[in-house]
Amino acid sequence: MQRAGTITYVNGPVVRARVTGELRMMEQVEVGREGLVGEVIALEGDLATIQVYEESAGLVPGDPVKGTGMPLGVELGPGLIGSIIDGIERPLVALAEIAGDFIPRGVVTDALDRHRSWRFVPTAVVGDHVAGGATLGTVPETPLVRHRIMVPPDVSGDLIWLAEEGGYGVNAPIARVRTHDGERELTMVQRWPVRTRRPVSERLSPNDPLITGQRVIDALFPMAKGGTAAIPGGFGAGKTVLQQGLAKWSDAQVVIYVGCGERGNEMTDVLEQFPRLQDPQTGHSLMERTILIANTSNMPVAAREASIYTGITLAEYYRDMGYHVALMADSTSRWAEALREVSGRLEEMPAEEGFPAYLPSRLASFYERAGRVRTLGGQVGSITVVGAVSPPAGDLSEPVTQHTRRFVRTFWALDKSLAAARHFPALNWMASYSGYAETVADWWRENVSPEWSDCRQQISSVLHRESELQEIVRLVGPDALPDEQRWLLWVARLIREGFLQQNATDPLDAYTTPEKQMALLQLILHALRRGREVLAKGAPVSRLENEISIWPQMIRAAATVPNDDLSALDEMRDRLDVQMDALLKEYQS
Ligand code: ADP
Ligand code: MG
Repeated sequence: MQRAGTITYVNGPVVRARVTGELRMMEQVEVGREGLVGEVIALEGDLATIQVYEESAGLVPGDPVKGTGMPLGVELGPGLIGSIIDGIERPLVALAEIAGDFIPRGVVTDALDRHRSWRFVPTAVVGDHVAGGATLGTVPETPLVRHRIMVPPDVSGDLIWLAEEGGYGVNAPIARVRTHDGERELTMVQRWPVRTRRPVSERLSPNDPLITGQRVIDALFPMAKGGTAAIPGGFGAGKTVLQQGLAKWSDAQVVIYVGCGERGNEMTDVLEQFPRLQDPQTGHSLMERTILIANTSNMPVAAREASIYTGITLAEYYRDMGYHVALMADSTSRWAEALREVSGRLEEMPAEEGFPAYLPSRLASFYERAGRVRTLGGQVGSITVVGAVSPPAGDLSEPVTQHTRRFVRTFWALDKSLAAARHFPALNWMASYSGYAETVADWWRENVSPEWSDCRQQISSVLHRESELQEIVRLVGPDALPDEQRWLLWVARLIREGFLQQNATDPLDAYTTPEKQMALLQLILHALRRGREVLAKGAPVSRLENEISIWPQMIRAAATVPNDDLSALDEMRDRLDVQMDALLKEYQS
């Protein structure tokens, strides 16, 4: 039976068609004479409603619709790393396509290059029983990513033939499996429907930190590999800079960066920087571990809706190879707006602020695909998801922020007033939280310092205390405070300016190792203790503030002391002790 229909009505990205053949719900369809990519999103009797993922201008009633027999899906195989694709996995070759005006339509471009040859090294053994997730062989995809060619999740049986080592195109047969219903020939490519999660054998709890090199995150609001976070913040608060910082510096093995509905020039920034930047763990170009998905504001709105599912499906595929994957989506608010726009054209009943009633379930179906897992093939892999949220007017009570909050365990709230004061990252330490601080503590204790949890608590208690004292200062001025409290305010300033603030544009400051983070915190807490000791002997706080000469140097330490040589921090501590000892002596006995 032919899978087909005829268009009866066009409303932007929403098209209705009278079904003349057999079309299924969620089926991917070719729309119009140019064969634009579409998906059946509703089916009533012989009337299909179709969402078109490409610019739909020019479609008219009477145009044909053709079914593909498959749900909206992506191709998975070698060649994805380092590539730049749109929300429905079409390769974007020229920068102009991302930044500007020219987006080809209906051209059938394969996501994976058919002409490229990959060196396949077989690792499975003919005669073995293989099931979904089993590794047949590997391909060196980039110097950083060894690509496992896996049996697709829905195939199992006896391996009756395996290609020998050699160069193969992605469509060349590399294995044959005898399954219950006949022989299956496998290539290096799998297809997977983007709205369906890929199966795993077990979900594990996320215990290891994702080290980001961003001090305020790692030290105060840590992320776990396999965790979820949202970055809410108004325009200009620093969401994009922070997401890009995470994509550059975090210790994920594969990074998927989804530029979703934001301006094209932000994506071109990434494209210009990433190939030149080095991964701090391996020294290789960042593009050798990165996939960019661009559906910028000038691109069709429906593909924006698909882009985050495309992103998470690619993330699952690399996770299934046993990699730790991080996915950044900038911005999920623009994604939700696409959902709202299409819903409006479908004339659905709107819920809060015009968003469809299924907004929360769609958000959930995205964030729930994060996690640390045991894969079908028996490896441990993870997907960390970080979504930027851009609430209109910075109002965190709006629906996208509120629903997102229910599905993420970490909340990095960016604050307009901090950004205005040039305190970057403008992460509000009173409004942010992390659900992983306890779970990652063991890693820090074993790998960096037994004092991590303790330090972290002391630092955050100084910051909380500061915020309470600020209220009093606003009413009566700082001089009314007892010396011990003024000292606490002084140390809080050291924490804010010398630790929390981090300049993303400074090569040294942009990334701080866990060891250096720990050493900086210990130095600040050492100053806190020594100061208290001196105050207890009766010295006035003004002498600590004015006569200890090390403060400016301490504040600059994060940006001046190299990650691989912390000796300057020890010297600062020694100088601090000498000066504190001198003060102490004056007030002794
Ligand atoms: P948003 O995406 O929230 O609209 P951006 O990430 O584009 O905001 O940040 C706006 C501006 O703030 C940047 O162009 C940059 O000047 C500044 N900025 C943000 N974060 C930092 C940072 N960590 N270091 C230095 N400058 C920053
Ligand atoms: Mg932005």
